[in-house]
Amino acid sequence: MNQDNFKHFQSGFAEVSRWLLPFAVIWLLGAIGLGWLVKSFLILVGLIIITPVIAFFGFRWWLKRNLIQSDCPVCHHEFISLNQTEFACPSCSEPLRVENGQFNRLTPPGTIDVSAVEVPAQTLDD
Ligand SMILES: [Zn+2]
Repeated sequence: MNQDNFKHFQSGFAEVSRWLLPFAVIWLLGAIGLGWLVKSFLILVGLIIITPVIAFFGFRWWLKRNLIQSDCPVCHHEFISLNQTEFACPSCSEPLRVENGQFNRLTPPGTIDVSAVEVPAQTLDD
């Protein structure tokens, strides 16, 4: 075996032992009765990895359900808001509320909303 081959063998061995070390540690801990430590550590690592993933998808699901895109009934400015909230239109600052996926004017109780109806001239002549 020449020098180069030996070096290659040595670095290869170092690589293998680096991969084997965690398994060796786990095996050692298991052998001295600390298998529960390994298990709880793995569960902890799993939770640390899984929790943000669940939180991310949960948040996306929640956003999908609660983000409502509609337009202001007063000035027809289109924007996005959260469901079941009260807010002011960013364009005309009219108080609005999200109901059934649409923006409605937040009129105080007792206010009668009158919508102007165009009356054709002929009906007045009759
Ligand atoms: Zn508006």
